[in-house]
Amino acid sequence: MNESQNRLDIDQIRIDIDHVDSEIVNLLAERKGLSLRMAHEKGRVDQPSRDQSREEDLIAKRVASGQDHDLDSGLIIQVWRAIVDDSVRVQQEALGRGADETTGVTVAIQGIEGSYSYLACQQYFGAKGTEVSVVTSRTFSEAIQNVRDGRADATVLPIENTTSGAITEVYDLLLESGLHMTGDIKFKVRHCLLGVEGASIPDMRKIYCHTQAVAQCSEFLATLEDCEVVHFSDTALSGKRIKDLNDPSIGAIASEEAARLFDLEVLKSGIANREENYTRFVVVATDPIDIPEGVPAKTSIVMAVSNRPGALMDALAIFSEGDINLVKLESRPIPHNPREELFYVDFEGDVSEKTVDAVLNTLMKEARFLKVLGSYPSRDLRQKPKLRTTESRQGNAREALVEPSPTTDDPKGYRLGSRGHKSSSTVVEVGGARFGGDDLVMIAGPCAVESWDQIVATAREVRDAGASVLRGGCFKPRTSPYSFQGLGLEGLDMLAEAGKTFGLPVVTEVLSPEDVDAVAKKSDILQIGTRNMQNFSLLAAVGRTHRPVLLKRGMSSSLDELLQAAEYILAEGNQQVILCERGIRTFERSTRNTLDLSAVPVLKSRTHLPVVVDPSHAAGSRDLVPPLALAAEAIGAHGIMVEIHPDPDTALSDGPQSLHFHQFEHLMGALGIPPNRRVSGG
Ligand code: PEP
Ligand code: MN
Repeated sequence: MNESQNRLDIDQIRIDIDHVDSEIVNLLAERKGLSLRMAHEKGRVDQPSRDQSREEDLIAKRVASGQDHDLDSGLIIQVWRAIVDDSVRVQQEALGRGADETTGVTVAIQGIEGSYSYLACQQYFGAKGTEVSVVTSRTFSEAIQNVRDGRADATVLPIENTTSGAITEVYDLLLESGLHMTGDIKFKVRHCLLGVEGASIPDMRKIYCHTQAVAQCSEFLATLEDCEVVHFSDTALSGKRIKDLNDPSIGAIASEEAARLFDLEVLKSGIANREENYTRFVVVATDPIDIPEGVPAKTSIVMAVSNRPGALMDALAIFSEGDINLVKLESRPIPHNPREELFYVDFEGDVSEKTVDAVLNTLMKEARFLKVLGSYPSRDLRQKPKLRTTESRQGNAREALVEPSPTTDDPKGYRLGSRGHKSSSTVVEVGGARFGGDDLVMIAGPCAVESWDQIVATAREVRDAGASVLRGGCFKPRTSPYSFQGLGLEGLDMLAEAGKTFGLPVVTEVLSPEDVDAVAKKSDILQIGTRNMQNFSLLAAVGRTHRPVLLKRGMSSSLDELLQAAEYILAEGNQQVILCERGIRTFERSTRNTLDLSAVPVLKSRTHLPVVVDPSHAAGSRDLVPPLALAAEAIGAHGIMVEIHPDPDTALSDGPQSLHFHQFEHLMGALGIPPNRRVSGG
């Protein structure tokens, strides 16, 4: 081909492109005509000019047909979002209806107007044509609380920055919040040095600056001589502050928008270490959202895996086997449990897709904790969206997970705990103890923590006799309000300290949802007592923690009810549940309760969760404890919990059923557990 031929071809292609473009304009004009006719019809029947579900469907259809032509889904979504928004505007104008008719949203942000959260929020909702009213909050947790209390529909929180990294506080809060992620946005942050009239960089002596911005602009700040950096909670607020002070030697780092808002001078813009400085914000609301088919989506989860070599690799392999693309993996130490890690994982796909559902189900069997934070449309995924193979749409993973699976043996009202869901037995590891493995785990200690001397003496005995977990009630659920109620958090401090001294993990009962966080800080295992087995808000609260839960059977509850109670914990994410048979109410009055030993094999056939037996609360009298404990071992319990006391006759609670130390040692010998007399420790 010669050069002039090549020129001609290029000219022709340009003519063709012009032609296509003018066709596009003609088609847009035709579309506008249709919109106006639609407005006319809607006006006659007084219909609203906006139907968001139709809009989403329409965009989804365009994405699907775009795929047939190998067109980028991101482009299609952007173009059609603009077309649809324009059409809504045209209709509203024609109908004389204002923006008040667009669906408004109230969004809580940390910081004031002009802050980056504010700007990201405007950009995110603005792109959807949604009217935003903002509720300002002092802290991230206040912003979350505003959503939980219904003062805002959603909150927009910064989660990571390309220069300064993860915003760890937000990760931790997100997990505890119980809210759902409904979107994310990558926001380009442009930091500027601002000052009042007359300010100049060489004369700056003090700069107010958000901690994150200090990290992101460290190189610029290092060039300033004789200038103090004062950390501030909010970028825009630092701008407002210097305006109020009106001192030219004091500057602030914030956005250009903040400069405009507070009438400040931009002394230098683009002062971040990196030109490409992005912050990713997540949008969080009370309810999960439905994503129209065909729209590229992302899902965020939090998981904890077992503490063994290769456990994380195995968990990640489940994604690759399911052909799911991971886009992010962030790890955080588990709060109050710094030796273990939580993993935040983002991947392509939506929980309502069958493949994603299958992967999450498999993962749940491996993980110690798994929670879906949410699935949401992703603007930055450039991949071709996978076509869904889902028949029914579910808004949230938990609903999908509690639905009976065809592989279960008809479990009644539970699924995650069933053998059908997971055929291999769950092993719950705490300290050196492994519940659900081959060894019998012994838990022993007083009914209640009464004093430092009492708990230390008992802890030493527990360790020396070869048991592996120390028990001790701090909040006591007493049948009579006049009985000893326990030492509360003070008792828990003693229990935790005694456990540490003798290298024993500890278990204590938690009575109310409000106490869960405080108890989970110190206790290695959280016990739910018989009287609380169906306290569903308490079950959900312990389900959100990362501590194993010892769930005692309600004294008048069936085994299916016990498994349904366990399901409340599992469904919140916490997969570490240990079941405990502790005796039930029957017509027989010779014993405090009747130990239902058949519960052990029945539960083991229905559930993969470990099962322990508490003969003390069943018997009510110490002489019956050793024979019942031996029977529990014989019938295959994974563990036994007994009450012991240095001086049972003076015990403040359950003295008659508490073993003397010598009786306990004798029982341990009969169970074949060797003593553990070490020289060190206390
Ligand atoms: C206990 O173990 O401390 C206790 C109070 O047991 P239960 O809930 O089984 O009565
Ligand atoms: Mn007791």
